[in-house]
Amino acid sequence: MSARILIVDDLAASVKVLAAKLTSEYYDVLTAHDGPTALEIVSREMPDLVLLDVMMPGMDGFEVCRRIKKSARTAHIPVVMVTALNDMRDRVNGLQAGADDFLTKPLNDTMLFARVRSLVRMKRTFDQWSQHQQTSRDLGFDVDPDMTDVHGRAAGVIVVDSSEIQSDNIRGVLERDGHNVTVLNSYIDAAQHIAGDLPDVVVVSMDFEGDEPLRLASRLRSQEPTRQVPILLIGDAEDESNLIKGLELGVNDCVVRPVDEQEIVARVRTQVRRKRYQEMLQSNFEQHLSMALTDGLTGLHNRRYLESHLDGIVKRAGDGGHGLSLMLIDLDHFKRVNDTYGHAAGDEVLRVVAKRLLRNVRGFDTAARFGGEEFIVAMPDTPIDIAFAVADRIRTKVAEEPIPLPDGSQLTVTMSAGVAELVEPGETAAELIERADKALYMAKHDGRDRVVRADPFVKKTSETAVE
Ligand code: GH3
Ligand code: MG
Ligand code: MG
Repeated sequence: MSARILIVDDLAASVKVLAAKLTSEYYDVLTAHDGPTALEIVSREMPDLVLLDVMMPGMDGFEVCRRIKKSARTAHIPVVMVTALNDMRDRVNGLQAGADDFLTKPLNDTMLFARVRSLVRMKRTFDQWSQHQQTSRDLGFDVDPDMTDVHGRAAGVIVVDSSEIQSDNIRGVLERDGHNVTVLNSYIDAAQHIAGDLPDVVVVSMDFEGDEPLRLASRLRSQEPTRQVPILLIGDAEDESNLIKGLELGVNDCVVRPVDEQEIVARVRTQVRRKRYQEMLQSNFEQHLSMALTDGLTGLHNRRYLESHLDGIVKRAGDGGHGLSLMLIDLDHFKRVNDTYGHAAGDEVLRVVAKRLLRNVRGFDTAARFGGEEFIVAMPDTPIDIAFAVADRIRTKVAEEPIPLPDGSQLTVTMSAGVAELVEPGETAAELIERADKALYMAKHDGRDRVVRADPFVKKTSETAVE
């Protein structure tokens, strides 16, 4: 599960201190002492994050960052520049070179870990989408989207700030950069307003009055329409603990007062570019694949897609050690549904169950119709306890809510499920499915309408192979 972080600094002592801190938080650490070596490691190892010193002899940090961001292969790797205390020029240069964030020396541990966690989370989301793209490529689809139009300008921005003077200031700066800015001077109802408007970025300003700004950020993250909207938090340097809380709530970035014009312009652009890039991947993916690889009845992926996709993520999970869980679902006594209510009613039940299934998994989980009345969900970065809880929630949703039929009547169905987690490297996708299937069989055997965890994977040794 742990993310890999590359530390680049010409001072061996700085590298050591930082490496020790990150290792103690269970990150895997790679190190480089100069720019060219850093670039070589980035391209070979594809780390999850780069912590980059600005001042290095030879190739400086800006140049290293520029090169990472110029290559299509590595551009999505987040880069954090480590600069001297409060040097605004460095920050602006860094942002122009494409840096995702800054930390100032001496490093504050809490801020360091909050930033690292937030950026690693962002990268993971991107990885899931690029994995989908890879699957499409493997299946012979031309899915490389045209990224030339992805830019961070002319976006819809909502600024939430209780101070009119401050918010007018920010509005002016962002309007001069070509954005369409709406200001809300009250946090009350802001979440609702934002959900209705769905801007490209929300800027939330923290004042000293209570915790409403953070409550708003948390609300935006948890309500469905705004879950993916980038949030930029503005706060005072003395209010660092709240900025950190914000990052932990899922805020995408923060700016410290006094707000530098160029800095906020660059950070808003970065968020907009990221959002559009992700939307582009998503819509491109949906367009290309929806036809050939979805199930006509339910609209879910079909088995062909799932199997190919699963091969890819199992391989990746094995390489990088990311947890992956699988859920296999089978409707109980479905033959009776057909026999009693007719085949058309059976079809409607399958459609409704598929909908409930989709509503209860995350965007980058992959749900597919695996066979007649069987469904399968692949959940990357998900330990089995969570997978079990998700499966059980779906089971409850299916069993508790009767399914309305077109003729006005309704019926209740139940489902059984098996969940399995990929833990040991070396297990194949087919073996993982087989374990989930065995667990599903146990759920049927034990009386149906339940979820069962799979037994752990046992690697075949030469001894067991002989038996
Ligand atoms: P169990 O609880 O053991 O799973 O019992 P079951 O009746 O669900 O299992 P079985 O595998 O015996 O029956 C599956 C049924 O699903 C048989 C088949 O007619 C029905 N089925 C499969 N695909 C479709 C479909 O696309 N539409 C409809 N209406 N029924 C389908
Ligand atoms: Mg079946
Ligand atoms: Mg069945």
